[in-house]
Amino acid sequence: MNWAWRFRLAGFPVAIDASFFILAVLLGFQLRDLRLILLWVVVLFVSILAHELGHAIVGRSYGLQPQIRLYSMGGLTSWSSGRGLTPRQSILVSLSGPAAGLALGGLVYGFSVLEPIELTPMGSFVVFLLLQVNIVWSILNLLPIVPLDGGNVMRSLLFMFRGQRDERLPAMVSMVVAAAVFVLALSVGRTFGAMMAAWLAFSNYQTFKGETYGARFPGMGR
Ligand SMILES: [Zn+2]
Repeated sequence: MNWAWRFRLAGFPVAIDASFFILAVLLGFQLRDLRLILLWVVVLFVSILAHELGHAIVGRSYGLQPQIRLYSMGGLTSWSSGRGLTPRQSILVSLSGPAAGLALGGLVYGFSVLEPIELTPMGSFVVFLLLQVNIVWSILNLLPIVPLDGGNVMRSLLFMFRGQRDERLPAMVSMVVAAAVFVLALSVGRTFGAMMAAWLAFSNYQTFKGETYGARFPGMGR
């Protein structure tokens, strides 16, 4: 069993795996300054927790018992009860994560514009990171690519309109969008983004070929 830091937040059980901190440090390593890397880890921690809290709060309002985990792939909100959500509820749960991120980013932006205080270089750096992570990442997360939040919204919408839970069409839409993002990311020199897009396109290709969604993304999709 991996080491995890466990606590409760707003009534939700939260587990932070050691692998989350390893991922955060690796992503921030290019900053090359211990203090900046620490600030980056804190910003990432707060931002991902806010995103997951968004999912969890709306999930709880639908009678679920969500639990939050931060690990090497980012954040995950899941629930153990087998209670199913309607497609509409599922869409609102999916949207609530990016909505929480945009709200947090919007607050930071609002304060930085309305209360223009003299920030130290460190302070400006934290504001920049908070905006970057909460606004840019929230928007990227809304892309219609499974298992991103936007992908789950697209998947639920397709289930709703087609009246059947066929995984192949959502997988195909995801593949096309991920391929477009791959080309776009490469053309602007975003190698990491291109790699992520390639991985998402490949995962969806496997789903399209017939492997089930549950097997591809165990417990994932939030
Ligand atoms: Zn999410």
